[in-house]
Order: sequence, then C-alpha cells, then structure tokens
Amino acid sequence: MNNTIKTAEACFLNTYNRYPLVIDQGKGVYLYDDAEKKYLDFAAGIGVFALGYDNAAYNNALKQQVDKIIHTSNLFYNKPSADAAEKFAKVSGMEKVFFTNSGTEAIEGAIKLARKYYFKKNGTAEGEIIAMKHSFHGRSMGALAVTGQPKYQEAFGPMIPNIKFAEFNNLESVKAEINEKTCAILLETVQGEGGLYPATEAFLTGVEALCKENGLLLMLDEIQCGMGRVGEMFAYQAYGVMPDVIASAKALGCGIPVGAFAARGEAADVLEPGDHGTTYGFNPLAGAAVNAVLDIYEQKKLVEHVKEVSQYLEEKLDSLVTKYTWISERRGKGLMQGLELDHPANKYIIKAQELGLIIVTAGANVIRFLPPLVIEKEHVDEMIGILECCLTEVE
Ligand SMILES: *Cc1c(COP(=O)(O)O)cnc(C)c1O
Repeated sequence: MNNTIKTAEACFLNTYNRYPLVIDQGKGVYLYDDAEKKYLDFAAGIGVFALGYDNAAYNNALKQQVDKIIHTSNLFYNKPSADAAEKFAKVSGMEKVFFTNSGTEAIEGAIKLARKYYFKKNGTAEGEIIAMKHSFHGRSMGALAVTGQPKYQEAFGPMIPNIKFAEFNNLESVKAEINEKTCAILLETVQGEGGLYPATEAFLTGVEALCKENGLLLMLDEIQCGMGRVGEMFAYQAYGVMPDVIASAKALGCGIPVGAFAARGEAADVLEPGDHGTTYGFNPLAGAAVNAVLDIYEQKKLVEHVKEVSQYLEEKLDSLVTKYTWISERRGKGLMQGLELDHPANKYIIKAQELGLIIVTAGANVIRFLPPLVIEKEHVDEMIGILECCLTEVE
C-alpha cells in the first residue's frame, strides 16, 4: 500500500471511506497524484476551488499576505478583512458580515442570530427554526440539528430543540409548521448533498412571502450553491428573492478555510458585543483570500462564464439521459449538476478515477458534477468522453 495512505489510515480517526488516491498537485482544472497521473477535476474539492488550481493572482495575494501578517485576533482591526467584508456586502446585498472558518460555523452563527432575534422580540429563549427534510448544513451539534437527514443525526442525540422540518419545495408543509414561536426558516437555495434539488421559484418566493407576513427571518444556506456556482453570484439572485441572513463558505476562500454569515435589515442589528466570537475568523490571510477571490471573479467575469458553459454542460448531460435508459434524470442549476441513476453510482466514480476523471456522488444514486468555475467547453467534452467510457465499461 502507498505509504501516505498507510500513515493516514493508521493515524486519522476513521470518519471517511477515502478513495485510494494521494493528490499531490493541481494545475488549472487538472489534479495530479503522487505518481504524476493526471485527472480532470469535476469536483473542485467539493465545490471549493472555483478559480482553478494555479491561479497566479490568487496565489500571489496569499503569498504577499503571508509575508506581512497571517493572524491578528479580533481584538484589533485589519485591512484585508475589512475590505473583504465591504466587497462581500456589495455582491450579496447583505449589510453586515461575520467571517467564520467553515460553512458549518456560518450555519451555527445563523442559528444563534435567529434565536437571539426571537429573544429580543419576546424576552424568552424558545424561538423555533423551520428547516427542510433532505437538507445538509454541517456536522456540529447546531448544524446537525437543522440537517434533515436521520442517518447523520441518529447516533448523536439529543439534538438541540425547537427545530421543525418541512418538505423542500412544498410550501403548504412549511406553512403547517409555522406557529407563534417560529423565528426563522432555513433552507439551501439549491440542495446539494441531499441530491441536487433547486428550489422552485414558486416555493422560494412563497417562503419569502411567508417570512414577510409572519415576521420570520429567511435564512439561505448558499455554502455550496453560492459564489457563482449557479450562474449568479448567489443562487437567490436567480429567483429575485432577498433573504435576511445568508451562510457562505466553500468557494468563498477558494481553499483558505473561510465561511461567512451575513445579514441585512433588522437581522443585521441582532447580535451585540459578547454574543459571538472566533479566534481565527476575520484573520488577514482569510481576508486576503476573500479579496483575491472576489476581485478575480469580477476581472474574469466568472459568473457570466458559468452561465455560458453550464448551458453546454446541461445539454451534454441531457443527451446522456436520453441515451441511457437507466439514467433517470438530470437535476441541478449552473455548474452544480447531478445525474440520478436507477442504481448506486459509486462504481462509476471509481472507474472514472481509473480513467483520469474526478467526480463525486450526492446520496447513493446521484453522480454530482461541481467543476471549477473556470472550465471551458472542451473540458466538458473531455469529461463526457471519459464518463461515457465509465458508463459503458461498468455496465
Ligand atoms: C459543505 C456544506 C456545509 C458545511 O460546510 P463546511 O465548510 O464543510 O463546514 C453546509 N451547508 C452546505 C449546503 C454545504 O454544502
């Protein structure tokens, strides 16, 4: 066995079934393993590395910041994180932001904000949050409690209380869970882990209206579907919906661990000094990463590019649905796509690796495509070529 794999298997807590592949380097949309085998990357580190791997502007921005200062703590100010906050507000329509170190922590922050929102209004700490079935929001106790998948929760109870679950894309089921204690509705604009389900326009605008009528916070998890992935900077912008709170991460730092929760209007004034904190969050290195990412998105017109290239990807995936009777459906939005099979997908993922393509699953039967946002049509063609080999060879 490869030495790195041996060491890792001996030393890591056994929380993952990893593929036997040691990634050593990345260049553009390609990865290289420790034997210098090349892979076309249609997973981007699970939707993280939007810019492609050897982006000089991004790398240089980080290198310069490393040589200046990496960390200061939140007892002081630093310019990179202040600038990043200003840029983030501009592209998201939010007013105030809190940078975290992960998506999970962004969700934790949003949950705390919602609870405090209720507390400020009612003087008691019993606010309820409505989340969705088949959602995924992270693995900490708060984020897990709003993740509507029993398989993740089962062994770790009791969950934090006052969380209700409704059916995604079923407005009546959301309505049915609203009562006088409800303070917020939380959902992924496009469900990722749960199987690549975009919210329907009627559902999302309906939830927005319910929130307005009932004085609830609309909180959107844009951790996977945000940051240009679906052809808008944030997925809710494709619906003309304006949330009160959003959570971001994944491509926000493009590899530097950084997430954010952000708020506008009344929600932006809920948290006060002492309510929340982080040692690493807002650190200058993370700030430099977010600045570089947002600048490069703008310079490269990356969101426009996604709109174009994702249409081509959709066409190509649709042609596979037509061709193979056992591929039941293509789902998703932009460069966040899934093919649902009528049987488990993992054997194709493994075969694809053999043939030099990285793809991942979303649930057992769905092949998920989350390429770097900089892919071109030729990469789509290359991916489809390899994928078809997998589909026919494995069958
Ligand atoms: C990945 C993800 C999370 C968790 O983010 P981490 O950075 O892994 O903590 C939460 N919500 C969604 C929708 C995600 O895709």
